[in-house]
Amino acid sequence: MQAEIIAVGTELLLGQIANTNAQIISNALREIGIDVYFHTCVGDNQKRLMEVLETALKRSDIIVLTGGLGPTKDDLTKETVALYLNLPLIVDDKSLKNIKRFFAERGRPFTENNFKQALIPDGAVAIENKIGTAPGILLNINGKIIILLPGPPQEMELMLKDAVIPYLSKTCSSTIFSKVLKFYGIGESALEEKLEDLISQQTNPTIAPLAKAGEVTIRLTAKAENRTAAKNIIKPIEDEIIKRVGDFLYGYDDDSVEEIVAGLLSKFNKTIALAESCTGGLMAHKLTNIPGISQFFERGIVSYSNRSKEELLNVNPETIRSYGAVSEETAKEMARGIRISSGTDIGISITGIAGPSGGSIEKPVGLVYIGYSDSNTCYAEKHIFSGRRRDIKERSVNSAFHLLRKMLQRLGD
Ligand code: ATP
Ligand code: MG
Repeated sequence: MQAEIIAVGTELLLGQIANTNAQIISNALREIGIDVYFHTCVGDNQKRLMEVLETALKRSDIIVLTGGLGPTKDDLTKETVALYLNLPLIVDDKSLKNIKRFFAERGRPFTENNFKQALIPDGAVAIENKIGTAPGILLNINGKIIILLPGPPQEMELMLKDAVIPYLSKTCSSTIFSKVLKFYGIGESALEEKLEDLISQQTNPTIAPLAKAGEVTIRLTAKAENRTAAKNIIKPIEDEIIKRVGDFLYGYDDDSVEEIVAGLLSKFNKTIALAESCTGGLMAHKLTNIPGISQFFERGIVSYSNRSKEELLNVNPETIRSYGAVSEETAKEMARGIRISSGTDIGISITGIAGPSGGSIEKPVGLVYIGYSDSNTCYAEKHIFSGRRRDIKERSVNSAFHLLRKMLQRLGD
């Protein structure tokens, strides 16, 4: 089954609102295995809406329209669909009752143009609007399913969930299921090279690599009668991918590295403290987004100045003088310093040049050292990140979490 979505509204074309309805509907249809091939946006104009409708009916089995079901003159979606299909508009008694009750409950007068909202094309089924006035409309005609939903997203979403998706899942029963594999420490091209044959032969499931800041993901998407069958289709390909590049795999779907780190801290019962310079507390912020982290996260210090590194972290002034604040030596002393002063199992430090100024040939913008210290090891990792100041901060924190993850995972080996 092939679907398309038509959003009606001049506001959309003027750029005053974003077509979020199309996004939500597409996502919901994908989840039940219906392919959406087109999104169209058209103004409140009968002639142009007719043209769009004509095209849609030629190429799609399911057409979902949103917007233009209101009581005013410019709301003409329903009238246009009825006109195009040559169907008279008739009163839907249940909808009329609902609309009257809606106004009565709010002590507002029921006007003639509200009556217009209770009309539906002959042969259609009304979809109840539990939070507004205009009912949705469902038409199954000449082998095509045409669905009209109101523009306001809350009303649209409720009908989509309560009526449209259950109806369509019954009528067209297949599921699309996706699983995302998340990798760190391998570039997109290196990963693709290792999976080249799988990617070029892909059919079901599809294999879609995607590079995001500092990580690569692979989305495996299968189509089948139901979720279990789809999972079974994904499994052998997933296993093969893990066999080849599993060393770089760190999580699935919505997993975030900070959540994984929090899980590992809990698993191995380790406490941690942070000393952040160029990231200004961003790592502490991300860590404290996780509920329950207080058991493992002791403190975070933003030691931005050299003086604070010396006073709060016991970094030797001689180290900073000889190697600089952004150096492997300073990162290590910061990590050790925060660990000892806070009495935790692990200390992490970040020191770098986030730019845009302050770089030099030996120490360019984006140069970042991440320090790790526990009772056995003290270590610092060098990175050179590109991007704006904010990107460099984000990437530094991301890498610090991954370093921490790797060190914690080693405890389990
Ligand atoms: P109403 O009864 O409120 O007039 P309607 O069904 O006629 O509803 P529209 O008049 O087209 O719908 O749009 C009403 C409001 O719904 C818009 O002002 C906008 O806020 C929102 N809206 C409409 N279409 C979309 C869309 N495609 N994506 C997101 N929001 C939308
Ligand atoms: Mg309207």
